[in-house]
Amino acid sequence: MIPPSFDYHCPTSVSEAVALLSKFGGEAKILAGGHSLLPMMKLRFAEPANLIDINKIPELRGIKEEGGLIKIGAMTTENQILFSDLLQRKVPLLPEAAKLIADPQVRNRGTIGGDIAHGDPANDHPAIAMALDATFVLQGPSGQRKVKAVDFFHGTYMTDMAEDEMMVSIEISPFAPNTGYAYQKLKRKTGDWATAAAAVVLQMSGNKVAHIAIGLTNVAPTALRATEAEQLMIGQELSTALLHRVSESVRSICDPAEDLRGDAEYKTAMAGEMTRRAIAAAVARCQ
Ligand SMILES: Cc1cc2nc3c(=O)[nH]c(=O)nc-3n(C[C@H](O)[C@H](O)[C@H](O)COP(=O)(O)OP(=O)(O)OC[C@H]3O[C@@H](n4cnc5c(N)ncnc54)[C@H](O)[C@@H]3O)c2cc1C
Repeated sequence: MIPPSFDYHCPTSVSEAVALLSKFGGEAKILAGGHSLLPMMKLRFAEPANLIDINKIPELRGIKEEGGLIKIGAMTTENQILFSDLLQRKVPLLPEAAKLIADPQVRNRGTIGGDIAHGDPANDHPAIAMALDATFVLQGPSGQRKVKAVDFFHGTYMTDMAEDEMMVSIEISPFAPNTGYAYQKLKRKTGDWATAAAAVVLQMSGNKVAHIAIGLTNVAPTALRATEAEQLMIGQELSTALLHRVSESVRSICDPAEDLRGDAEYKTAMAGEMTRRAIAAAVARCQ
């Protein structure tokens, strides 16, 4: 359980980190909280010759409201999300979900940028970012570019980020008044990844659904946005029959891997059920 040897670099600015990434290309890995990368290195699933530790880059930390957007630095920890007054008021889905991620030790070190950049469909932030319609800000040698969460994940551990790019922040629109939200996560025990989970953001116009976004965790090779299920709901009044159809549509896009958390059939069924519960909880918060 000892990782192979590597050279350690500790830049103090994003431009310095990007220059190191450009220099070493595929031979380097960013080190954020280390809670996913270091276990992979110990198991020798990852063997980077260079580690670029971004913990000493102040511009990557913090949560602010600017230009009508909430901007979260990639190195912001789960605990900082959990206890952010700004997020509690403007995007309360994030603190609610952060509370369900891992345990206090991991939440103290694990970062939102690392959770997303890792590209693990079992991580919670990818599906939540999809439901929030978040945008990821990436920086590489030729400057910054922005990628929507729905376009970022290409496969398990595969993302849109190039080898010489890093994630600097996550941008999210603050919730409009009366936005309903919920993250329903089925897990075997505290601290575990999801067996299946659903993030919902919803707005009602009278009795009808005006907006809904559904993100799904750990039920396919990437996090999923359930767009067809969303379309079934737009302009409709909620009913048991409609929720049944929505759950069916969600289940139809699931393709989970079988593991100790359950077989594919069970996880798929739970994705439908978590979605139904998240919608019900979100609607209750709209009223
Ligand atoms: C016991 C345990 C339980 C856990 N349970 C959960 C859970 O329930 N839900 C959940 O979502 N997660 C869970 N995790 C994972 C945890 O949240 C990790 O912290 C997270 O996946 C990675 O964040 P990190 O900051 O530790 O990143 P690291 O481990 O440092 O990095 C992860 C990967 O992302 C890359 N990376 C990191 N930051 C950047 C960046 N800014 N730009 C580009 N690339 C970057 C690294 O190079 C690496 O490839 C758990 C972890 C443990 C150990």
